[in-house]
Amino acid sequence: MEQLHRIVVPTPFAVGDVNMYIIEGDRLTLIDAGVKTEEAWHVFVRELRELGYKPEHIEQVIITHHHPDHVGLLDYLPSTIPVIGHRKAAPWIAKDAAFFAWHQQYFEQFLMECGIGEEGIAKLGNFRRSLRFSCERSLTQEVKEGDVIEGWMVIETPGHAQSHIVLYRESDGLMIGGDHLLATISSNPLLEPPAIGEQERPKPLLQYNDSLKKLLNYDITTIVTGHGENVTDVAPLVEKRLEKQKERAEHVWKLLSEKPMTAFDVCRALFPTVYEREFLLTMSEAIGQLDYLEAIGAVKKQKDGQIYMYEVVRS
Ligand SMILES: [Zn+2]
Repeated sequence: MEQLHRIVVPTPFAVGDVNMYIIEGDRLTLIDAGVKTEEAWHVFVRELRELGYKPEHIEQVIITHHHPDHVGLLDYLPSTIPVIGHRKAAPWIAKDAAFFAWHQQYFEQFLMECGIGEEGIAKLGNFRRSLRFSCERSLTQEVKEGDVIEGWMVIETPGHAQSHIVLYRESDGLMIGGDHLLATISSNPLLEPPAIGEQERPKPLLQYNDSLKKLLNYDITTIVTGHGENVTDVAPLVEKRLEKQKERAEHVWKLLSEKPMTAFDVCRALFPTVYEREFLLTMSEAIGQLDYLEAIGAVKKQKDGQIYMYEVVRS
């Protein structure tokens, strides 16, 4: 069986270090590409040397998703290396101007409906700050559900990111999991706009739950992850994550049972201080739980002028 090696590099983000993997298969393959800092690059090159390789030996890169801590070092690698990932990663890693303009326009409208008001719109610029740790590269090969790359099967797992995929090797049950299921932190489903030309917003928490349950269809021995240690007890951990989410949704339901609220009200009630600093993250959590409660028929929303108010459904 081909060798898989983990390389851990630091990130400037709250999540801490990020894992990259080298697979010594028919082609020397890198899974995920750290974050774009000098420090991460130096650590990567040093660790790679320990394995007996130089960056120019890498023959292809597969990215599990488009987040900066998984793609940033692409900018340091030779520009000829093929970059493989889900098609939805393409506009992000290429810093596609039309896509970012659409992103901005969509969220201004959407977040007004969530009740953030004009002053909240000003905070929207924040999501761009993390993009300086990302890259500007083309996706050279798109993969989708069921594709096989050198014995690894691609499984689409949207939720944490719309572009998220995991790789599964049936022969020994090994999975390369990206940020889909992490050993000690719960992976957060993040808001993203619909693809250009599409109207319906993806509901990342609902997608995430489906993608978690999807793992139970496979006989997984170990998941090597994007952050922290491997996951070996997959089914109980999936169960634990789903339970925890239900508890958080119940908490939101209780808040709404006291009075109708906007999504932004819910966000501030859940994260009274953190929301300013982690706006997208905390809004994603609030809207995720609201999407979930709406989907199970526990709450409904009504438009009041430009803004949606959520209220509980009493049976
Ligand atoms: Zn990550």
